[in-house]
Amino acid sequence: MSEAATGAGLLTIDGVWKNFHGHSVLRGVDLEVRPHEVVSLIGASGSGKSTLLRCVNLLETVDDGAIFLDGQEITDPQVDVDGVRKRLGIVFQAFNLFPHMTVLDNITLAPRQVHKVARERAEEQAHELLTRFGLADKARAYPDQLSGGQQQRVAIIRALATQPRLMLLDEVTSALDPELVMEVLGIIRELKESGMTMILTTHEMGFCRDISDTVCFLHGGVLLEKGPADKIFTAPEHPRTREFLRGAL
Ligand code: ADP
Ligand code: MG
Repeated sequence: MSEAATGAGLLTIDGVWKNFHGHSVLRGVDLEVRPHEVVSLIGASGSGKSTLLRCVNLLETVDDGAIFLDGQEITDPQVDVDGVRKRLGIVFQAFNLFPHMTVLDNITLAPRQVHKVARERAEEQAHELLTRFGLADKARAYPDQLSGGQQQRVAIIRALATQPRLMLLDEVTSALDPELVMEVLGIIRELKESGMTMILTTHEMGFCRDISDTVCFLHGGVLLEKGPADKIFTAPEHPRTREFLRGAL
């Protein structure tokens, strides 16, 4: 186990490799995420950002290295995968709401079925979240009656409803029209203020700088540079990071 894996991180990624068809798309990634920390993954398309999040969520198995959540090795083949996923909230680029279910049912499904919360209590919590994020009047709406921004806010609320230890947000604004991006970024900002630990990938560099405690630059599956957001955006050390940011800003 490397030094990183002995720290007090909520999540520790230790020397993770991932190969697809003999091609390594993650090459020994180390990353420690502390409680309440917001970590952004940036890098060109294909650099491995989504794959890294998918490894944390156990949607991919790692080929080498290990991942620890609250000190438990979740990459252990014997791990209770559902038990791990219960502690994670995941939101992807595409809105994955169930189209035939109301907003309220979308949000209460996992708390009721996976976490065995009583319907009344689950709905009470869902209403609290909807109110907190300005969607109180949408509880009975179906996804197709909502704007893209509203749908993505519901997807984030749904992930929050199970009170995850860690939120994984993969390009959650990429499928949105520009005028809808802000409302989704607003909810992420509020989550940070509430102390939620998050790993996110984004192409919104202004937002990334604003919200992240730590920014990680991935290049060809290598975590080339990692540091405080202001440092990465004002004085990146690696020429590849500078080149990427010149193109991205
Ligand atoms: P990013 O999210 O940074 O755009 P990804 O993690 O999606 O990058 O992809 C990293 C690399 O891994 C890309 O070359 C991609 O084509 C490849 N890749 C991702 N998932 C798979 C898969 N299931 N099978 C084969 N190759 C994959
Ligand atoms: Mg991706």
